[in-house]
Amino acid sequence: MTEDGRNPDQGRSGEQADETVERYKNDDGTINKKEVIMFTPTKTILDKARQQHYAVAHFNINNLEILQGVVNAAVKLQAPIVLATSEGAIQYAGMNYLYALARTAAETTRIPIALHLDHGRDLKIIKKAIQLGYSSVMVDASHQEFEKNIKITKQVVQWAHPKGISVEAELGTIGGAEDLVESRHILYTDPAKAKEFVERTGCDFLAVAIGTSHGAYKFSGKADLRQDIVQQIHRLVKIPLVLHGASGVPEKVVKEAQKYGAKLSGVYGVPDSQIKLAIKNGIAKINTDTDLRLAFDAAVRKAVQTRPADFDPRHILGPAREAIQQVAEQRIRLLGSGGKG
Ligand SMILES: [Zn+2]
Repeated sequence: MTEDGRNPDQGRSGEQADETVERYKNDDGTINKKEVIMFTPTKTILDKARQQHYAVAHFNINNLEILQGVVNAAVKLQAPIVLATSEGAIQYAGMNYLYALARTAAETTRIPIALHLDHGRDLKIIKKAIQLGYSSVMVDASHQEFEKNIKITKQVVQWAHPKGISVEAELGTIGGAEDLVESRHILYTDPAKAKEFVERTGCDFLAVAIGTSHGAYKFSGKADLRQDIVQQIHRLVKIPLVLHGASGVPEKVVKEAQKYGAKLSGVYGVPDSQIKLAIKNGIAKINTDTDLRLAFDAAVRKAVQTRPADFDPRHILGPAREAIQQVAEQRIRLLGSGGKG
């Protein structure tokens, strides 16, 4: 530990970003705006993934440590990533703060980074994200009937496209609870309806329901995913497909959290083999939130319990940032997006 109480191992990840910004400085120390790389369009990132048969990692961010953890992983593996803020994350941290964090990541690294609104249900929030300069927005009207879903999605496409912002929509129902979005039953996406939906709305990416579920309690035992539905939709719909509710809930991380007091029983994730198969069948973006939460939780619990006299938030959240990075690296490797940045 250094004199100012900073543990060098836990401070490095933050400094990495500070050093890279030096590249863009003029001689007088001001930032050369022309050199600064902003967000990469989500469509550019996902179209390439669809063509080259890998999936891009979408990571949900809520705070600085989660952001730095996933960005450090992406930089290390030279992977493109989509940073996502849900309505719950925006409620917690504020859209402007999250935007500024993500923008700093895009400006200080050379990998393609997009900023995405996850599960937009509130049209006001969707509009604000478009105005602020998000790379893409998801409009989630999947709980509405087919025609209403089309109408709402089309409206958002009309707002977003003139600004070069792409739109993800959802058809069918993904189970489980994610922040403010909850649905109890899984309703599989109908491939023929998906084709009609995409043609009529002009959406850029489609989230499909094939049996995955949000949260850590995905299945009552074994993952039962309808890979045949992904195959059929991929054949009929020529846009990138998205898989939600696909965290792996790694046993190692769960055990670590349990060791330090977490009450998690009966948690199940999607096996890596199923993720690989889904990518082979046409999925081009895979959302991860739960695995990051579990890693963060385990690391914070460990830090608090093993060092009861240490009340420096940096020593509590620093290890969590490291744990986030590790999980993010595993996801990127699984998705095959390393080296594609
Ligand atoms: Zn989702």
